[in-house]
Order: sequence, then structure tokens, then C-alpha cells
Amino acid sequence: MTSLIPSRGRHVAVIGLGAAGLVAARELRREGHTVIAFEREKHVGGLWMYTDRVELDSLSVDPDRTVVHSSVYESLRTNLPRECMGYSDFPFVTRSDDGDPRRYPDHREVLKYLQDFAKEFKIDEMVRFETEVLCVEPTEKDSRRWRVQFKSSSGVSGEETFDAVVVCNGHYTEPRIAHIPGIDSWPGKQFHSHNYRIPDQFKDQVVIVIGGQASGNDISSDIASMAKEVHISAKGVTSESYSGYNNLRLHPPIYRAREDGSVVFKNGKVVFADAIVHCTGYKYHFPFLKTNGYVTVEDNRVGPLYKHVFPPALAPGISFIGLPFMGLQFFMFEIQSKWVASVLSGRAKLPSEGKMMEEAIAFYAKLEDLGIPKRYTHFLTDPQGNPMLGTFKPEDEVVISQSDYFNWIAEQCGCASIEPWRERLYNVAIKKVFFGGDSYRDRWDADQLIEEVYREFAKLKS
Ligand code: FAD
Repeated sequence: MTSLIPSRGRHVAVIGLGAAGLVAARELRREGHTVIAFEREKHVGGLWMYTDRVELDSLSVDPDRTVVHSSVYESLRTNLPRECMGYSDFPFVTRSDDGDPRRYPDHREVLKYLQDFAKEFKIDEMVRFETEVLCVEPTEKDSRRWRVQFKSSSGVSGEETFDAVVVCNGHYTEPRIAHIPGIDSWPGKQFHSHNYRIPDQFKDQVVIVIGGQASGNDISSDIASMAKEVHISAKGVTSESYSGYNNLRLHPPIYRAREDGSVVFKNGKVVFADAIVHCTGYKYHFPFLKTNGYVTVEDNRVGPLYKHVFPPALAPGISFIGLPFMGLQFFMFEIQSKWVASVLSGRAKLPSEGKMMEEAIAFYAKLEDLGIPKRYTHFLTDPQGNPMLGTFKPEDEVVISQSDYFNWIAEQCGCASIEPWRERLYNVAIKKVFFGGDSYRDRWDADQLIEEVYREFAKLKS
């Protein structure tokens, strides 16, 4: 069904105005398309719009629950230096004197950056705020055009037909929960990190945190400031002690939970706990998308997709921005958006549906051969096609797998690829996350590189 879009502006819907949707709307308009962006909240910013509201269902498993979008917790700071987080032509530098000037600022500063971006590029003009998209489906008359049904917060429903729909609804709201044998009879309280904001409720408690990635580490240290004990259970754990905290312990995965309140780890250790916090990530979720099975989500693989963006059978009418995780997110949103905009205008060409499908199937077969589960499909791979699973050691030259992906996209749409300084800065930053210990955000030692970055930023202004 790949339609050859004649080279002219198309009528395009963007769903969601977080960091992905903001830059998608800008790039689509820059390319000459008319854009209507739908955002169910009152403001732009997406997950960076902090709220102390959480969902009543602390594990967020009830499909009928009232969804709170953001998963940001009160103490959250960026896990990348601001200089490598921004869009290519709108550096994330300190803008106002009442902001957070730190290299790793707090979530409010990121929201302010996104709001400044929206103001600078007049994105609001394209947005229908407080309007939720309820259904996206091909029109009866022409399956290459898309009907978008939506409802405003004041209850007004509507529908509109578009040439294309760009999906930017985010993927950090629908939790993935760890499976724990015996959990149904375990008497303690369970939470998903999506519903974690501040540590107060864990005062003097014994808490188990499942998951040792960015949120797991942040939230464990946060809770350790108030709890009696915190026990992190993660894969690949070798030592038990956690530097810097005498009430924080490391454990391998959980073997089972028991009705006496105890939790047994795979090394046989037993802890009687009051609470379990699942810092176990999120699911991709597109409740509005009706594609007659052309796009499915299977063990967190959205597919089949060509290069994490276009479903071969529906391209270019449907596209996804922001699916790959772990990496230079904002830069990726921007370059993916440039590609989608240029394909829709006809400036860039897609292979045939058959070719795109062939490539997607070959990529999935490669992951299978490598024994990589579907849920890592959207981890960007290294040049050999092996996903970057954080398997590098401090002395390794981190292979920036995403650069190959960015370079490839840049070639398709004739735009600039990743700047060498951004690649090097990310290289320094990603190692700090994995090997820099708890206070990595406040120990910066690459000043020369930063000076070079600000010289590059100065050139943007000249
Ligand atoms: P979101 O920000 O989730 O935005 C999606 C938008 O779509 C929301 O505004 C939502 O209201 C809207 N929406 C959803 N469904 C509908 C609908 N049906 N109709 C209308 N609107 C809809 N990345 C970094 O680069 N640096 C970091 O330090 C960093 N820290 C992170 C910390 C946490 C806790 C999390 C969860 C993620 C972090 N990320 C970080 C990654 C994050 O993906 C990106 O930073 C980015 O902000 C995500 O933007 P997005 O637009 O894809 O999604």
C-alpha cells in the first residue's frame, strides 16, 4: 500500500506534544506540510510536565484506570548533560536566571526548554490542546488516507481526514511489571515507578526495588534517604554492597514471594519487606491505532517496522517518532522527523513495500540469531547489528551504535547527521551513567570538550 506521495505539502496529524511531537510538528511545517497536532493535556512537554498526582492503581495494571501521563519523580534530574540533550539548532543551554544552571538539571529545566522551543517556533499555532485522539484508521474510500477521531476535554467529539499521521504518544506511561512467583499471597504493597514521586511513604520501611537501570538507581537512593533498608534486585548483580549507602543492598533476581511477607532471592537470601517498587520499564501502547493487524506490539516489539519508523504496509501514511530508547532522544526525534517530512513531500523516497518488509524481517531474524528477545528490538544496534545492551566495560571505546542509524537517516533526507562533538559528549556521558556511581551528575571532568561544544553553539548564532 505504499503510495507515491506527489511532491507537495500534505495534510498531516501529529499525536502528542512531548519532545518528539514538538520537533515533528516543526519539521513537518518546515517541509511545507499543513500540520494539526493533538495534545490531550493543557500544555506541551509530555512526560516532563511533572505532576504529584499518581494513579490510584499503584501498579497501573487496570486498563480502565484514569491515566496520569507523566512518570517523572520529584527528585528527577537528567541522565545526560544538557548540552547533548537539545535539538541541533536550539541548544539546551541555561536560558533564564531563575533556571537550574547545572550540567544535569532537574525536570523543571527540561520542561522550560521544551516550552521555550514551542514559543520560539510558534508550535502552539498548530496544536489542539486538551484533545485526545481516540481512533486512527484508514478511510473506507481511500485506504491511503486516515480518519482521526478525537474528543476534547469539554466533551466535544470530532473527526478529520489526513494524508498522514505521525505517532508521538510517548512510551513511558504503560508499565511493564516483573513476574514474581507467589506474589498474590504476599501481604506487602506493590508500586510501579510510574507512580513514584517522593520517598516519604517508605519512612522506616524495608523496601525492595526491582530493576537496576536509570530509574531503579535513582529511586533506590531516593528511598534509602527515608527507609530502614532498601534492597535492589537486578540481573547481573555481582556484589551485595552498594557504595555510599549502609542501608542499601544489592541482590540477584527474586526467586519467589511468600505469604509471611518474606521475599526469597535467587541466591537464597531472604528479606521480610513492606513494599516492592517495580522499576521495570514500560510498554509501547497505541490504543487509538486501528491498522487491521498491519502494526502490532508483541513483547514490546512494535512491528513490523522499517528502521523503527515506517510500517511497510502503511508507509508513509503512518509513521512513529521516538520508538528507539537509550540514547540521544531529542536528536533522534529531530532526525526521524526530518526523514518523515521529506518522505511525505516526495523529496526522499522509500523502498517498495516488499523491500521494506524484507529488511524488517531480516533485522528481526538477526536479533533472533543473536538470542536477543523481541523486547530489545528498539535498542539501537551497533555497526555489526548487535543491540547496545550496555554490555561495554569502562575501558571500551563505546560503540555509538545510534550514529550509524543517524548517518543512514541523514543520507536519506539530505540533512546533517550527528555532530562529532555530540557523539563524543554522549560517549563520555553514557559511561558516567554506568560507571560513575551515584553522584555522577555532580562530578564533571571533561571541561575541554564542553568548551568545544560552546564554540559550536556560538557558531549557530553567527
Ligand atoms: P512524552 O513526553 O511521553 O509525550 C507524549 C505526549 O503525547 C504527551 O504529552 C501525552 O499527553 C500525549 N498523548 C498521548 N496519547 C495521546 C492521545 N491519544 N491523544 C493526544 N495526545 C496524546 N531522555 C533524555 O534525553 N534525557 C533524560 O534525562 C531522560 N530522562 C528520563 C527520565 C524518565 C523517568 C523517563 C520516563 C524518560 C526519560 N527520558 C530522558 C526519555 C524520554 O523518552 C524523552 O526524554 C522524551 O521526553 C520523551 O518524549 P515523547 O514525546 O516521546 O513522549
